[in-house]
Amino acid sequence: MKLHLEIASCVRATSKFSQCTKCVDACPESVQIVNNLPTFAKGTGVEAAACVGACPTEAFSLSDFSATEFFFTFLESKVRLVSPKINVPCLSVLNIEHLISLALASEEPIILDLSSYDPESQLFDLIEARIEEANFVLSSISSKQLETNLEKVETVLDAESKEETSRRSFLGNASLKGVMKHKRVFDEAVEAEELRSFELDSSVISKIKEKHLPDKRKILFTTLKRAEVPETFDVVATEDISFISQKYVDENCTNCQICYRICPTGALSSDKKFSLIHFDAMLCVKCHLCHDVCEPDAIHLQEGFEFKEFFEPQQRTLATFTIKRCNECGNPFTYTGGEQTCPRCLIEEEEAMFLHNNARQMRGES
Ligand code: SF4
Ligand code: SF4
Ligand code: SF4
Repeated sequence: MKLHLEIASCVRATSKFSQCTKCVDACPESVQIVNNLPTFAKGTGVEAAACVGACPTEAFSLSDFSATEFFFTFLESKVRLVSPKINVPCLSVLNIEHLISLALASEEPIILDLSSYDPESQLFDLIEARIEEANFVLSSISSKQLETNLEKVETVLDAESKEETSRRSFLGNASLKGVMKHKRVFDEAVEAEELRSFELDSSVISKIKEKHLPDKRKILFTTLKRAEVPETFDVVATEDISFISQKYVDENCTNCQICYRICPTGALSSDKKFSLIHFDAMLCVKCHLCHDVCEPDAIHLQEGFEFKEFFEPQQRTLATFTIKRCNECGNPFTYTGGEQTCPRCLIEEEEAMFLHNNARQMRGES
């Protein structure tokens, strides 16, 4: 089982201004930020690969386990227990979106086996927090909830073994390749694919420009389309939802174009003339990159997240701009009133004027 980092998918590779530390927060002993990029710590086992489930853009992956493949295989089986002893390497590889999607897509309640984890550990807290957030979201959009199991898992397995589908055959389909079934073994078995720091070369830079929606969001999107639509839509505090956001742009926006050019998923976009900022909340993975790069701090999280977005997604226009051609250079620019001269030409004019005045002073002219 190897841990792989697709550096081109990391928002830190997209901009040196990114402040994302989600992988480090999830696996502080195994992942560090070095030269502004995530780096595997040498000589450290990768603690349960919690970074895989934590990364908003799915930059981390495991060689022998795919959460996407697991999602479909699990639903096809009759097993409704998600356990490090039978079908996942660790519960932490599943993100909140996977958990919500599993609960929504399953007719039967899903049980998450926490019995392998030390309740005092950081990993337990992390997994519990994800389950809590998933259940919080579920309580607003459906009658389903995820259940947890803290007892010895054998008890649950006994019950499961009465199911027609055998655990063994399920495992055979679950892409685990029989490598390991228990977290302790998993921790020992997992190793970083390359224990090294990453650098940006030209092949990475060309990949960074590609917009990519993570699989977990595609799964959530598809699951929501098939789910029963609630009679009313709740609005919850923005800080209670960690994986998606709604935004607005204030009057300080200069239309510098950076946020919508670098948004990794295409949640922020514009038209051909760059005369507006569009936003699709269902494409936003709350990576915070747009906020980190916005120099005038003009893009903000909307107060209150509306669950209506889940069922009736909308593209909103956050800002519109008047685009005119510069009278000096002829290039299009964002016109904010006054002379029809683009900022670059204005700066050049100011510099020319400064040099001209200096020259006059040196000649003793007033
Ligand atoms: S985008 Fe993913 S890999 Fe990059 S810093 Fe954030 S969590 Fe880590
Ligand atoms: S919101 Fe900020 S980053 Fe985006 S175009 Fe406006 S000024 Fe630039
Ligand atoms: S809109 Fe901002 S927070 Fe959302 S995915 Fe794009 S860059 Fe990340």
